[in-house]
Amino acid sequence: MNGFGAFRLLREALRGQTGWEPQWRSPERPQPTYDVVIIGGGGHGLATAYYLAKQHRVGRIAVLEKGWIGGGNTGRNTTIIRSNYLFPESAALYDHAVQLWEGLSQELNYNVMFSPRGVLMLAHNVHDEQSFRRHVHANRLAGVDNEWLDAEGCRAFCPPLDIHQQRYPVVGGALQRRGGVARHDAVAWGYARAAAALGVDIVQNCEVIGITRGADGAVTALSTSKGEIRTGKIGVVAAGSTSLVMAMAGVRMPLESFPLQALVSEPVKPVFPCVVMSNTVHAYISQSDKGELVIGAGTDQYPSYSQAGGVQILSHTLEAICELFPMFRRMRMLRSWGGIVDTTSDRSPIIGLTPVPGLFVNCGWGTGGFKATPGSGHVFAATIARGEPHPIAAPFSLDRFATGRLIDEAAAAAVAH
Ligand SMILES: Cc1cc2nc3c(=O)[nH]c(=O)nc-3n(C[C@H](O)[C@H](O)[C@H](O)COP(=O)(O)OP(=O)(O)OC[C@H]3O[C@@H](n4cnc5c(N)ncnc54)[C@H](O)[C@@H]3O)c2cc1C
Repeated sequence: MNGFGAFRLLREALRGQTGWEPQWRSPERPQPTYDVVIIGGGGHGLATAYYLAKQHRVGRIAVLEKGWIGGGNTGRNTTIIRSNYLFPESAALYDHAVQLWEGLSQELNYNVMFSPRGVLMLAHNVHDEQSFRRHVHANRLAGVDNEWLDAEGCRAFCPPLDIHQQRYPVVGGALQRRGGVARHDAVAWGYARAAAALGVDIVQNCEVIGITRGADGAVTALSTSKGEIRTGKIGVVAAGSTSLVMAMAGVRMPLESFPLQALVSEPVKPVFPCVVMSNTVHAYISQSDKGELVIGAGTDQYPSYSQAGGVQILSHTLEAICELFPMFRRMRMLRSWGGIVDTTSDRSPIIGLTPVPGLFVNCGWGTGGFKATPGSGHVFAATIARGEPHPIAAPFSLDRFATGRLIDEAAAAAVAH
C-alpha cells in the first residue's frame, strides 16, 4: 500500500467508513431492452458478460441474478483448479481456463488469489494407477503438464499424508503442478467490477420466471420478478437450476441436479502445502489462506434441490480424511454447506446453441466447473456473439446426446473436481 492508500485507509477508519464507493454498479431494476441477457450471476455468467463487452463489443448486456452474485455454486465450492482431464477436448477446454487463470488478476485488476500450489490425485489400487498413468501420457501428448509420483514422492510432496494406512494405502499419484486454488468470491467480484465498468447491468434479486418465443420460435423476451425485458439473445448460465430455466423455453435438458457438500475446519497455522484429491473415496482437501482446512465430499445418491445434503456423505468423507491425514483427527469442523450441481451422463459440460434460435446454454459442469470459469466465459461469449460455437466449445454441444459423440470423463475419472 502506498502513502496515499494508507492515508485513505486511516481517514476512512476515523470517519466510520463513509467514503467507500461500491465496487460495481448494481441497478435496482433492469432496462426494458438488451442485446444480450445472461441468466445467472455466478462466475460463469459474469465472465461471459465481461468477455461479451470486452472482446465482442456487445453494447447492452444484463446479468440477471435471482439472489446475490456468487451466491450459487461459485461461492460454495472448494476452488480446485486443474486441467489434467483425459480426453483432448476436455484438456483443451480446461487448459484454456488455466492459462486464463494465470493472468486473471492482471486482466481484471483484481486479486483473485490464484495459487498454483499443485493438485495431487491419489491412486490407492492398481486400477487407479493404470488410469492415472494413462492420464499422464494423454496429457503430455496434448501438451498439458501432469506427472506420476510414486508413494514416497507423494509423501515428499505432501508431508501430512500417511501413505501406509490400512484402508486407503497410497500407491502413487498424478500431480499437476500448475493446478491449485483461487478465492471464489473474488472471482465473482472481479468479473462483476470489470463487466460493470464496461457498461454491463448486473441486477440482483431479479429472478427470471418466463421466456417468451415469437412465431418463428426464436426468443423475443423474458419475464422477471422485476418486469418484462425484450431481447433477441439469452445465455442461460444457471448451474443447478438450468433444467428449470430451460423448461421456460420448452427445452428439456439431459441433466440431473444433485446436492454436493463441503465443509471447513477451524483455522490453523499453515500446515497443508498443496491440494490433495482421492477419487476413490471422493474426498479432497486444501488449506485456505485464512487457515481453514477446506474439505469436499461427494454428491448425494439421488437427485434433489435441497441445499442440505446427507450427513452420511460428510461422515464418510471425514473418516477417509482422518485416515489419510491422521494429524487432522482432533481438528474441529466449523461449518458445512451444500450446493446444487447439474450433471450430465458423460460428466462433461454443455456449451453452445440450443434448438431455440437466440437461446444459448452453458451448464452441466457438475462437481467441477469452478476451475473452468474464465475459459467457459471466454468461449461462451464468443459463441453468443458469433451465433456459432467457439472451436474449443464445439465438441460440448447439446446435440452430442443425440449423435452419441459423448466425451465420457465419468468413465475416465469417476469424479471431476
Ligand atoms: C460443494 C461444492 C464443491 C465444489 N468444488 C469444486 C472444485 O473444487 N472445483 C471446481 O472446479 N468446481 C467445484 N464445484 C463446482 C462449481 O462450484 C460449479 O461448477 C461452478 O461454480 C458453476 O458456476 P456457475 O457460475 O455456472 O454457477 P453458479 O455460481 O451456481 O451460478 C448460477 C446462478 O444462477 C442463478 N439462477 C438460477 N436460476 C435463476 C433464475 N431463474 N433467474 C435468475 N438467476 C438464476 C443462481 O442463483 C446462481 O447464482 C463445486 C460445487 C460445490 C457445490
